[in-house]
Amino acid sequence: MTCPICHGDKLLPFVDQDEWHFSQCVDCQFAFLDPMPNQSQLNALYHDDRGITGSHYPKARSRRIRALLRALRLLPWFWRKSAFDLGCGGGFMVDAFRRLGARACGLDVNAEAIAYARRVFPRCQFLSQSFDEFQPATTFDFVYSSELIEHISTLEDYMAVLRRLTHAGSHVYITTPDLGSNQVPQPITDWDVFAPPHHVQFFNEQNLALLFQQHGFAQVRRYADQKAGLKVLFRRLG
Ligand SMILES: [Zn+2]
Repeated sequence: MTCPICHGDKLLPFVDQDEWHFSQCVDCQFAFLDPMPNQSQLNALYHDDRGITGSHYPKARSRRIRALLRALRLLPWFWRKSAFDLGCGGGFMVDAFRRLGARACGLDVNAEAIAYARRVFPRCQFLSQSFDEFQPATTFDFVYSSELIEHISTLEDYMAVLRRLTHAGSHVYITTPDLGSNQVPQPITDWDVFAPPHHVQFFNEQNLALLFQQHGFAQVRRYADQKAGLKVLFRRLG
């Protein structure tokens, strides 16, 4: 086993919880489940979870408001452009992008979440599929993917989907927990995002940037976060 990002072969035991074992790369500090479950095992976790149904989405009202506030910060990257939410849940961000002037689509593996999104936001487009089966028919100017990358067992497949969704000059906005933050609780098992096998890996700013660089994206800027979160904007180069 080598590091999935920098391919270094110096791995150390990181943390164990129940039957789950994390390793950490000495060179780039990427921490990941070792062995890694496969994506179909992980996808099974996202059916019938968290009380989401076609007619009900928990905390829908506050999600709508937060989505609009979040989208406002990102306005320059999608206004009068096309936007895609990879891992869109109930479609709150997709609707916010549309209200603020984008042509917006979203994809989620959770069929109930997509049934909800289609019912509540009929003016947006939604797809219910696993990202690794997804073959986009077109590319987008802006791709938003929040709190998804830490769930993905096959980073190469995830990056390949981002490549297929974008063209040169497209922007990609990623959020994920930040293992490099000094706000990560000790022991790490006290961190609210430490939830194997839902979260299979943890990044810091440098190894996330390295992964994106390897797939033709340059970091544009990092957005501030009040907690131990990474919020990073990338631009596709070629
Ligand atoms: Zn590494």
